[in-house]
Amino acid sequence: MKQLTFRCFCCRRIVPRNPRARNQRYCGAKPCQQARKNKWQRNKQDLDSDHRVNKEESQRAWRQKNPGYWKLYRQKHPEYCERNRLLQQKRDLKRRFKNNPSGNMSDLAKKDASDIKTNETTAR
Ligand SMILES: [Zn+2]
Repeated sequence: MKQLTFRCFCCRRIVPRNPRARNQRYCGAKPCQQARKNKWQRNKQDLDSDHRVNKEESQRAWRQKNPGYWKLYRQKHPEYCERNRLLQQKRDLKRRFKNNPSGNMSDLAKKDASDIKTNETTAR
């Protein structure tokens, strides 16, 4: 028997299933639909390089048609700038951590690795 309800992947509520939607994972609420769309787009960009190139090209064309849009937007929305600044700091930290996992710890790990190596050579 087909289930009449399901748990939304985004808001975790149990909601009635849309009979026209196959494998429905998200409810119809706006933030949930936006989350579904964002996830699809991220996946599409990762898998489909043509899609990504087309998107970058169309964004470039739009920027050339609307010069100064983002400059004006940032002037009108200081809270957007502040939020972005904080998120960018997080992204920078994340990238730094990815490139060099926790500075001092990696030095310790290297030291340990070299100790093991010398032990191995002495054992032989
Ligand atoms: Zn939902």
